Amino acid sequence: MKSSILRVETVRGDKYEKYLLKCKKELDKWFGVSVDIPRVLFVQSRKEYDKIVGYKTEAWQVGNSGNGVIYILDPKIYTKESDHKDIKRFWLVLKHEYVHLYWHQMTASWNPRWLNEGLACYLAGQEKKAPSQEVVIDVRKYFGHGGMFVYGLGYFWVNYLVKKFGKTKLLNLIKSVDADVTNKKFEAKFKRIYGFGLDKKSLARIMN
Ligand SMILES: [Zn+2]
Repeated sequence: MKSSILRVETVRGDKYEKYLLKCKKELDKWFGVSVDIPRVLFVQSRKEYDKIVGYKTEAWQVGNSGNGVIYILDPKIYTKESDHKDIKRFWLVLKHEYVHLYWHQMTASWNPRWLNEGLACYLAGQEKKAPSQEVVIDVRKYFGHGGMFVYGLGYFWVNYLVKKFGKTKLLNLIKSVDADVTNKKFEAKFKRIYGFGLDKKSLARIMN
């Protein structure tokens, strides 16, 4: 593979690092663990972004993270190469990706996707409109499944769980996730902590 295809830029000691330091202070406190400030690689086009993630991405996909690195569309081309019309959202995406690095350090997993994405949106302040109740109660489907809905659905449940039961329970749930997590194992832990299951019937009941 020709690595020269990826024109990426690493930025240190500037406004990006300052912002990430601010995020770090807040997130270290929230999670109770410390995660090093990631390297940020500014991707110069949609085409290069596709090459980095390894598939054809959609216009709303602008950032990715793993192994202490965040890949994100360069602010210079951010609105041009995505359907995000507001550059302010760039900063929220940067924080969102940083939250994923905390999640991954604590769990060594990317699943359940809905909780991982919901938490990243919630802590980054990316308020999402809740999808219909029909989608929201179908949370089991989003254990290892991404797509557009996972963000709104995940945001809804994280916001709900924190508001209704507090942060400590949610942190305990996150800490129970490990590399061998399955839908079944996760649901058993969830039920022990919250007292209700993740089946549609139980979720519809607590929503109404
Ligand atoms: Zn994400």
